[in-house]
Amino acid sequence: MAMDPVTKARLISCGRIELPEVFRPEGPVSTAGPGAGERNVFFRGGQSRVRLSVAEGSPLKLAELEGDEVAILLEDAEVARGVLERPLLHCPRQAYITVSERCIYDCKFCAVPKLSGGVKPKERVVEMVAQALDTGELEAISLTSGVERTPEEEVARVAEIVKALRKFDLPIGVSVTPAERSSRILQEAGADEIKYNVECLDPVLFERVCPGVSLEKIKAALADAAGRFGKNRVFSNVIVGLGESEIALREGIEELAEMGVLPVIRAVYPHPLRVGEVEMVRPSPERLLDLARHLRRALDVHRLRGDVAETGCYRCTGCDLIPHRDL
Ligand code: SF4
Repeated sequence: MAMDPVTKARLISCGRIELPEVFRPEGPVSTAGPGAGERNVFFRGGQSRVRLSVAEGSPLKLAELEGDEVAILLEDAEVARGVLERPLLHCPRQAYITVSERCIYDCKFCAVPKLSGGVKPKERVVEMVAQALDTGELEAISLTSGVERTPEEEVARVAEIVKALRKFDLPIGVSVTPAERSSRILQEAGADEIKYNVECLDPVLFERVCPGVSLEKIKAALADAAGRFGKNRVFSNVIVGLGESEIALREGIEELAEMGVLPVIRAVYPHPLRVGEVEMVRPSPERLLDLARHLRRALDVHRLRGDVAETGCYRCTGCDLIPHRDL
């Protein structure tokens, strides 16, 4: 049964699901981004996919049906029917790998600085991709990274890894903190797509939630990346639910699209390690739908497409309503 955009918006807005014992995933927890450290399930209804964090006490419950089929229930009423998908590395069909699981910055919604995890050497990343390839399901490689020491050093580290991964002949996307000449360095290393996250498009709030980071510098890096990588190859996460100004958010989405950048409108994830540090309220289904339609209009005006990405979140679609894929 196809999952329509209204249903997907309801599921994303809730963001969590309770699983019966038989479905409890035992694989590794995610190490990427604001939701790092959480267990996830991926549900597919028709052509649409949604990722939900596993949590006891969620109003959404998963129920087993015949064969592989499952249903998502809200207060005992079925809201969606489909199948569960196996994540490969972090998400289905991709090796989505966090290189440095630590960060010198302290963005108030992100768990990575609090988790202070390890830094994977190049050989380990290559080995992980080779193992993912052996499953026969691997279609793309996405690399993300916190900043262990400096953005420059991190870009150089990831560029070396990209060079080593070219041998797999798969599309490679990279999401890092931009640095001097980072787009050129990563493009020459062999990256196909790039993501620099603006995180918050409200400049006043940005200073509070991303201390020590410059919104203007990220935008300048995105403009440079769009010039180098071309149409439909540059992305930027925009977190929604931090108490941002609606006008600044909507104008910021238009500004990014005008630059040739595809914004990823991401519902804030109130990570337990960050509770109380900043306002974090999951957006309502209505707001998610409204913003996704606004985004789609902005992409259409600038002749950008949400359905041609080869890597990352526009390819996965698990966390967001993706223009030209979901609506
Ligand atoms: S949409 Fe992006 S962050 Fe969400 S599960 Fe997929 S790859 Fe991960």
